[in-house]
Amino acid sequence: MADEPKTETPLVSVQGVNKYFGELHVLRDIDLDIARGEVVVVIGPSGSGKSTLCRAINRLEPIENGEIRIDGVPLPAEGKELARLRADVGMVFQSFNLFAHKTILQNVTLGPTKVRKESADAARKHAMELLERVGIASQADKYPAQLSGGQQQRVAIARALAMRPKVMLFDEPTSALDPEMVNEVLDVMTSLAKDGMTMVVVTHEMGFARRAADRVVFMADGQIVEAAEPDTFFTKPTSDRAKDFLSKIL
Ligand code: ADP
Ligand code: MG
Repeated sequence: MADEPKTETPLVSVQGVNKYFGELHVLRDIDLDIARGEVVVVIGPSGSGKSTLCRAINRLEPIENGEIRIDGVPLPAEGKELARLRADVGMVFQSFNLFAHKTILQNVTLGPTKVRKESADAARKHAMELLERVGIASQADKYPAQLSGGQQQRVAIARALAMRPKVMLFDEPTSALDPEMVNEVLDVMTSLAKDGMTMVVVTHEMGFARRAADRVVFMADGQIVEAAEPDTFFTKPTSDRAKDFLSKIL
């Protein structure tokens, strides 16, 4: 019907999620919907639950209650269906975790051929396009140890993209890098964001947040304390906690 409201399913929907590590209540009633194409930057003090939230979205961490949906489909606790849905969620960590004994190209083609059952030719072609995109194509036959940290992290991004994820999660992707390599990784992420990739990015890089985020989510003590557009968040934070955090990092 013409006048029916258009309600688009969020690409990631986190509803009423709680998580404990023993007595420690690390995620408290987290509600977070992420629209298709949206870039959400998650910031907050160390220990506030940012990594746990990312891992929960990928079911690397079980949750006690609440529901997480990817593109409308609830994440099952385990099994084949979980593997399939998990492939929709690309993840890039602080440590690059490349396979040391495989070449850069093999690192990128492994998932698509093993999990997505792509042919070797198709996987290689796609991998080379992605390596081109992150500026590493000329290094395809090298091994991870022959690359700088910034280059390895760009390979890790290409590897995640090779699985054709619907959403990319980045957990402090530049924290382990030497300062001069941070921008080459952020530039790749900024270009992904511009191309419309749905992204959740945990980072302390406030310049990136201002430049690329549609929304900044501020977490403290396992809760989402505040969420706003970057301009609003950085110029007019409302909670004392966010004000305090910003005063320490800006
Ligand atoms: P952040 O990424 O914001 O620094 P984390 O999600 O890593 O925070 O951690 C949130 C809290 O959970 C911290 O207090 C941390 O020590 C604790 N925590 C994280 N992982 C575990 C674990 N596997 N077992 C026990 N406690 C954990
Ligand atoms: Mg963390």
